[in-house]
Amino acid sequence: MQKMQKKNIVVLTGAGISAESGLGTFRDNNGLWEKHRVEDVATPEAFERNPELVYRFYNERRKQLFSDIEPNPAHYALAKLEQALGERFLLVTQNVDNLHERAGSKRILHMHGELLSAFCCYSEKRFVLTGDIDVNSRCECCTPAQPVRPDIVWFGEMPYHMESISKALQQADVFISIGTSGNVYPAAGFVREANFYGAQTIELNLEPSENGTDFQAAEYGKAGEVVPRFVDNLIAELN
Ligand code: NAD
Repeated sequence: MQKMQKKNIVVLTGAGISAESGLGTFRDNNGLWEKHRVEDVATPEAFERNPELVYRFYNERRKQLFSDIEPNPAHYALAKLEQALGERFLLVTQNVDNLHERAGSKRILHMHGELLSAFCCYSEKRFVLTGDIDVNSRCECCTPAQPVRPDIVWFGEMPYHMESISKALQQADVFISIGTSGNVYPAAGFVREANFYGAQTIELNLEPSENGTDFQAAEYGKAGEVVPRFVDNLIAELN
């Protein structure tokens, strides 16, 4: 087997990696995100229909990040893997929380946006956001100032960084998917892309995901236990 230090590794994470930190997933709650239907809080149509609810929902999610939520061993393990691999490593996350960054990850792309960011509906510029926003919030980039919305890629919208992700998948020797149900596209299609370009593909999840059979290998269990062990073995192969 080729030495790991010569390998390019792409990791995809989903809500499952943050579950043990206390952030709810969708699939483990009957398709509800913190008691809300996706159709009511995570689509452009929901925002048009009931902007107050959508603003409130993301204000609550943002506040949660400033409560007692902490990264768990799986987040720290990925930061450690990045340290070992440097620019051969890329973390792509569907998560909108900031737990990867808080664990030390730097080479990270948030394909579905970030809770700690706002988006100007007119200029499409993005801003750091830590407090609440509502229907009266306005940007600082336009004259006159324009409405802003949560910088979240809703269902039906085009995820961020697709070109960079596609390029990384084409060059990947190993693709690891962690804590994602394989329901949400295009992320759910990355394993096939990685397989097509010849990568070794591995799933680490609580249970087989929707597209679990597309992976060449899998380990099942809680991310906080499985991921640190898996990463330690991988790093041992580096040396
Ligand atoms: P999902 O909710 O559809 O699936 C979660 C997956 O994680 C499931 O397969 C489940 O079996 C697995 N899982 C649950 N607990 C786990 C654990 N302790 N260890 C390992 N795996 C575990 O999540 P998704 O596939 O990421 O898609 C949901 C979408 O919702 C994403 O687009 C994301 O942006 C958004 N979302 C984000 C957050 C967050 O940022 N933390 C939370 C909820 C939803």
